[in-house]
Amino acid sequence: MLRPGQRWPRPAHRARAILETTDATAIGFDLGLVEVFPAAEEDERLAYLGPDLLGPDWDGAEAVRRLAAAPHAQIVVALADQRNLAGLGNVLVNEVCFLRGIRPDRPAGEVDLAAAVDLARRVIHANRDRVERTTTGDTRPGRRLWVYGRAGESCRRCGARIEHGRYGPNAVELRETYWCPNCQR
Ligand SMILES: [Zn+2]
Repeated sequence: MLRPGQRWPRPAHRARAILETTDATAIGFDLGLVEVFPAAEEDERLAYLGPDLLGPDWDGAEAVRRLAAAPHAQIVVALADQRNLAGLGNVLVNEVCFLRGIRPDRPAGEVDLAAAVDLARRVIHANRDRVERTTTGDTRPGRRLWVYGRAGESCRRCGARIEHGRYGPNAVELRETYWCPNCQR
């Protein structure tokens, strides 16, 4: 969230949606999908979404129940599925897997889902009002993330080379995925 007139943190050509009031500006950069619809349709349109990580009615137990219902799904795919829990983008999914020490291709049924969901909520809340998200706690450029976008670079924790692959719910919807082969099992 920016104040009106404040310098944008990324180039204007990457902005996809801008919402502005008299005292705040929210800019969506690099959004994969933007849909606009009348407020009256909100309940119906969003009924498929899982519990909202940033919502006042957050229900972690329900998110865990939904994840556990598909125990063979790869955890990186399950956490990004907005029907399980709503709010995590691909970057934070990758980072949550690193922070929990989980290889992204592990089946959800082998993962401590309650701990992963709890961490996801803490990470997303910590970044709610930040212009540039960080999971390392370091806001300096190039130091904000543990694994995402760092293929071939050294793990910040153990020094191993960060690996890269593509995972998704099907052969078309593949997302860039990064992990440390040593820290994540
Ligand atoms: Zn590592």
